[in-house]
Amino acid sequence: MKALVKLSPEKGLWMCDRPIPKPGINDVLVKIRKTAVCGTDLHIYKWDAWSQRTIKTPMIIGHEYAGEIVEMGKGVENLRIGDRVTGEGHIACGHCRNCRRGKLHVCENVVGIGVNRDGAFAEYLVVPASNIVKLDPRISDEMAAIMDPFGNATHAALSFPLIGEDVLITGAGLIGSMATAICRFAGARYIVVSDISKYRLDLARKMGATHTVNPAKGESIEAVVKSLHMHGFDIGLEMSGSPQAFESMIENMYNGSKIALLGILPDTTQVNWNEIIFKALTLKGIYGREMWETWYQMEQMLITGIDLSPVITHRFEVDDFQKAFDVMESAACGKVILNWE
Ligand code: NAD
Ligand code: ZN
Repeated sequence: MKALVKLSPEKGLWMCDRPIPKPGINDVLVKIRKTAVCGTDLHIYKWDAWSQRTIKTPMIIGHEYAGEIVEMGKGVENLRIGDRVTGEGHIACGHCRNCRRGKLHVCENVVGIGVNRDGAFAEYLVVPASNIVKLDPRISDEMAAIMDPFGNATHAALSFPLIGEDVLITGAGLIGSMATAICRFAGARYIVVSDISKYRLDLARKMGATHTVNPAKGESIEAVVKSLHMHGFDIGLEMSGSPQAFESMIENMYNGSKIALLGILPDTTQVNWNEIIFKALTLKGIYGREMWETWYQMEQMLITGIDLSPVITHRFEVDDFQKAFDVMESAACGKVILNWE
């Protein structure tokens, strides 16, 4: 089969011929139709410090996919050959304390598909049946292929009630722009989105932002707060990983408000603790998706009409994967889809 492999510890990805994997006990074999490129795949492609610490080459990368079950190992129940599926990218161990208390998203022994074991950028993928999500026929293959990052956005955005609330989203990237659509869909009042890229702010507006702020152009969140006659935001979604963005968020939150932290901030990030303490802010770290409530929420939003279509900006045949990574590297894109059919 064709597979996109991180062959050696340097920048790049290589299209290789690999044997079709065999599903073991409780596994399924998925024939891949569409995959989407995640920021994580871009990190691995670029071979940054995190990838150098984390990825053991050779590795088939990728974890955002939609496909069809073509073979099942012994013991698989509730699934059938021919089922259209996607899947959770984190494999939980099922026996640690968190797994046993139903918090699989904070499993002690989590294994990442396409990070710690062979991933979905291939014609076929073997995964545990317990990671599979069967797709409602109203959900397209493309939407299914972006459910993993949509799930990050959902987990963060639906951490707190949103109806009538004023939301600040810092970072209108692949995840921030989807979080914008979720806040719109879930009934927020003002949704102010900041980014330093005009392309990404245009995307945020298409996804339902009521106001956008570009700090790189001298615009400030504070000025928007003033112009809207607000005292500050009720909900903050940090989705940039930028210390400056996080700092400006803390400055512009209302007393007693809540922040979900998804963006991965550098270790050296400084925080104004007094603002957090005296404003009595609640901070929640977000990792992955809740299994399986986040998936249920995503499924229902997609079925009842959330429109994520503007976030998919590029589509390539998998043989043109280099073009996909070039456009991801330029950041002048939303989600990029690779077609394997
Ligand atoms: P992305 O690179 O597409 O988006 C980040 C955006 O932040 C970009 O559009 C960038 O222009 C913008 N940005 C940079 N500096 C800014 C600033 N000062 N103010 C406002 N915006 C600024 O990344 P993504 O895929 O959307 O992921 C968002 C973040 O979440 C990343 O840090 C990523 O590593 C992290 N992430 C976390 C999890 C998790 O489980 N916690 C999962 C996936 C990704
Ligand atoms: Zn576990």
